[in-house]
Amino acid sequence: MHEPERFRSPEYLAVIEQKDSSDRLQIPDACLRQMRQEAERGYPHEICGLLTGTMNASGWLVCDVRPVANLNHERAADRFELDPAGYQAIDRELRGSGTEIIGVYHSHPDCPPRPSPTDLGSAWEGFAYPIISVYQGKSHDVRCWTINEELSRFAAVEIVEHTAHE
Ligand SMILES: [Zn+2]
Repeated sequence: MHEPERFRSPEYLAVIEQKDSSDRLQIPDACLRQMRQEAERGYPHEICGLLTGTMNASGWLVCDVRPVANLNHERAADRFELDPAGYQAIDRELRGSGTEIIGVYHSHPDCPPRPSPTDLGSAWEGFAYPIISVYQGKSHDVRCWTINEELSRFAAVEIVEHTAHE
């Protein structure tokens, strides 16, 4: 798979922790499928959205995937800016539901699913950050990340896919 040169630059490599996170992202297969479909539909632009669910000692449990508009139109191919109004509406809706916003996903059109220095600048502690790579309109790898306490690097998070029970 084509990998832009910048993903091998010291600047990009510096945002990734050597050691993986011990936390895991447990996600229903339908949610993973939905993120992939949105990433494909949005291609060649970056799409973004929120993961809702709960957190426990082993990491994050995803209940739902909620698309939110990418407000960055000038550089929609390689930047995303989550619509704050969309965030607030979902946050408000979840109050008292026992679930909350636990992560932010976005796509990387024609790029590997690894975080960029820009992603580092907008990441919050305690959130899960899945990235969906899309090559020529077709989704490929999905990898999940979380930021360290110093907000200086991302560590890889294992994705555990499961079939949701009704
Ligand atoms: Zn990114």
